[in-house]
Amino acid sequence: MAMQNEKEELNPFKIAQQQFDRAADLMHLDEAARQLLREPMRTIEVRIPVKMRTGKTKVFTGFRVQYNTARGPAKGGIRYHPAETIDTVRALSAWMTWKCSLANIPYGGGKGGVICDTKSMNELELENLSRGYIRALAPFIGPKKDVPAPDVYTTPQIMGWMMDEYEKIVGKSEPGVITGKPLEVWGSVGRSDSTAMGAMYVLREAAKLKKINLKTARIAVQGFGNAGSFAFTLAKKMFGSRIVAISDSQGGVYSKTGLDYDKLEEAKKRSGSIQGAKGVEKITNEQLLELDVDVLIPAAIENQVTGKNADRIKAKLLLELANGPVTPDADRILFQKGVFDLPDFLVNSGGVIGSYFEWLQNQSGYYWEADEFYTRLDKVITKSFKDVMTTHDEYGKKGQKITPRDAAYIIAIDRVAKAMKARGWY
Ligand code: NAD
Repeated sequence: MAMQNEKEELNPFKIAQQQFDRAADLMHLDEAARQLLREPMRTIEVRIPVKMRTGKTKVFTGFRVQYNTARGPAKGGIRYHPAETIDTVRALSAWMTWKCSLANIPYGGGKGGVICDTKSMNELELENLSRGYIRALAPFIGPKKDVPAPDVYTTPQIMGWMMDEYEKIVGKSEPGVITGKPLEVWGSVGRSDSTAMGAMYVLREAAKLKKINLKTARIAVQGFGNAGSFAFTLAKKMFGSRIVAISDSQGGVYSKTGLDYDKLEEAKKRSGSIQGAKGVEKITNEQLLELDVDVLIPAAIENQVTGKNADRIKAKLLLELANGPVTPDADRILFQKGVFDLPDFLVNSGGVIGSYFEWLQNQSGYYWEADEFYTRLDKVITKSFKDVMTTHDEYGKKGQKITPRDAAYIIAIDRVAKAMKARGWY
């Protein structure tokens, strides 16, 4: 029973709904709007037959959830994962809705997933699966309907195959059907590090507000993938910060004087883990989260800071680069401790803002230089951060102490609710 309760507590869609309910209560959201926004508007489940290298057909299950399209086409990545569930896809599609709304870009929210183990598949099987997924979903996607992108275990190459399959079906060039594509088929400059770069702009603003000197700041990063490794190199390059700890799924490394990125990368290539690097102290992922640092950046997976360890978090600033790293239980504890916790759908919105820029370029056929990409990204995400702080302070002045996450939800929900109202949905 206790196990069951814990499972329910960590169910990502239940968490997304709890966060939504809290904000909906705070803003006294209309009942019909609440019903429309508490659940996805459309859920699609498909079977995908794939001829495997053995000659036999394997049938995969795929999902696409279009959570809400009041502000524009659904937008969100496709995850390939052996443990993918419809509730994970639902939660991520809800978070995409709030993310696009908070960034004030003209999209709704969506997400997709396929239950599969990419590590056991060869390239041809992966290509056949990706093309099959698009054949199953082609009637429901398109640049003005629903625009997928990469997510965990899906790559620019997979986006290239998917775009190609879609174009074959519709019989015309349509690069805006999908983002995160290789540059050769009209991906965008800047997209590969836009998630971490966006987080750095938020970090710069948050540090100004909280009077944290980033030049002398000690930073710990959980995760050494796309988000985590770019966060490491960019924080060092842009601010001169000291990254004292980083981890991958096997564990972490620590150095009081700061880690050397090249040495970690070399160790990962050589031994399969960053823990193989010389001159560093090995730590666990649990220890990394509880280090005495100025900034903690969870950039790996969900449910890392929970009711069990939140009390031991020592960082002043928590920058949620991963999706869903902090549970609602932990939220309350961090708030009481005075940890400045910036929510995922603000911090990692640089990824979807970058996707939006790619889609814009695809729609117009005019392609930008890198500096134009980053300047615009900075402008959009810095505005989101300031919007969040303004709403946070307005509630504070009314005597209602809310978290930055509550403030971000209030802004995002309000914009989607207003769009639904303007359409006459309630
Ligand atoms: P990735 O697959 O490139 O990297 C994930 C990293 O997490 C790897 O280093 C892996 O070793 C590590 N990891 C896995 N399990 C772990 C565990 N139990 N403890 C510690 N580390 C563990 O993925 P990514 O693209 O870097 O995404 C990371 C997070 O950021 C995800 O939550 C993702 O949804 C979110 N995100 C990424 C983007 C993007 O553009 N990459 C955009 C928005 C949000």
